Amino acid sequence: MEIKLNDWLNEIKKRGGIRHVKFKCPACGHTQSATDLSKQTKSNDPMNDVYVSCMGRFKKSDGTIFNDKSPCDYASFGFLTLNNVFVIKEDGENTPVFDFEENPLFVKAPKS
Ligand SMILES: [Zn+2]
Repeated sequence: MEIKLNDWLNEIKKRGGIRHVKFKCPACGHTQSATDLSKQTKSNDPMNDVYVSCMGRFKKSDGTIFNDKSPCDYASFGFLTLNNVFVIKEDGENTPVFDFEENPLFVKAPKS
């Protein structure tokens, strides 16, 4: 599904703000907030990485690497897009993002 940038930013605000809202990786199901990224990894930009990169993409804060299936190293901007949510900017550019953990935006159509 597609959502306009402003509507998406409002959703984040409603859900407690970018530092706290949890996003779910579409590849492995790991959920993370920007606070998680900043505490547990060496991400330089947790508030922008949190909705496009799974935590396993970064080194842990102690410098070691994640070695498990989850968190994985999936990123929305990679070759393969698994995302169901696309944020549309005013110029029409769309960015695939991770969905919210709680009350996801994308709901599969019920089977009839
Ligand atoms: Zn993942």
